[in-house]
Amino acid sequence: MKAVQVVGYHQNLEMADVDKPTPTGPFDVVVKIGGAGVCRTDLHILEGQWAEKSQVQLPYTIGHENAGWVEAVGSAVSNVSEGDKVIVHPLITCGLCRACRSGDDVHCEANAFPGIDTNGGYAEHLKTSARSVVKIDDALEPSDVAALADAGLTAYHAAAKAAKRLTPRDRAVVIGAGGLGHIGIQVLKALSPAELIVVDRNPEALKLADAIGADHGVIADGTQVDQVLELTGGSGAQTVVDFVGEDGATIEGIAMLRRAGDYHVVGYGENINVPTIDVISTEINFIGNLVGSYNDLCDLMALAARGAVNLHTQKYALDDFQSAITDLDNGNVRGRAILVP
Ligand SMILES: [Zn+2]
Ligand SMILES: [Zn+2]
Repeated sequence: MKAVQVVGYHQNLEMADVDKPTPTGPFDVVVKIGGAGVCRTDLHILEGQWAEKSQVQLPYTIGHENAGWVEAVGSAVSNVSEGDKVIVHPLITCGLCRACRSGDDVHCEANAFPGIDTNGGYAEHLKTSARSVVKIDDALEPSDVAALADAGLTAYHAAAKAAKRLTPRDRAVVIGAGGLGHIGIQVLKALSPAELIVVDRNPEALKLADAIGADHGVIADGTQVDQVLELTGGSGAQTVVDFVGEDGATIEGIAMLRRAGDYHVVGYGENINVPTIDVISTEINFIGNLVGSYNDLCDLMALAARGAVNLHTQKYALDDFQSAITDLDNGNVRGRAILVP
């Protein structure tokens, strides 16, 4: 089968002809790929940023945002069968460790991560496990939802966690209405009764935010902290969900937070620099967010099936993988780039 592989760092990806995966373990599931999301993490992999962490042997097949149809199953698989339309949770997890048994499978002590440390989905087929596949509604197409498997799932996880603490009297600020942020906005709109303020430096992104549920758009022109304080009666927002996390976003985001508020870190890059006396005197909370759990993915698919979450996509044939990578690198992708075998 065709598979797009990492053959070396600081080198272009290459199309290869490799053996089609087959179920070898009892819980294996082979998925015929209907869509594979092209993610900024893929660019970081090519830059070698993940090499030490993943210890992956080259060449291997990249791609961790996958959806498609079940092609073959191992002898013990009972939750899906051949032909089922599925989205693939990015991790293969053990089901036996403490984290897995608490439903917190993202922190599984014995996980594999197709596309990062083992063969992924820029290919015609992908091998994953029964624990990782979520059947999706008939109305959804794999190529439309593939990027919800990671980008969307991360945004869902943070927004849903934030929404649990929000009441109708609260305001929530979303910093960054881009690829992840535009999913976070839709999830907050669906799950939280709070007033939603979206901050972005791009007027087009604010226009999109307005169309998908933001109550207020704030242009990040240097006056954004004052604008948010004005919109929150001078006291700041109960929650800030920061999808940027670099270029000074955190210093400004923290200044938008009210006493005892929650600061959700999703985007990353810079250090948080806050005097500890401010942390104790205001009792503000800093909350990290990784990708969501299997249950988060099921919840997100329920929202997608009822049309509450829509992902903007730009599709490419699998053979055109290089155009997708180049477009992403040059900032020429609207929404998420998806490879379709
Ligand atoms: Zn990703
Ligand atoms: Zn586990």
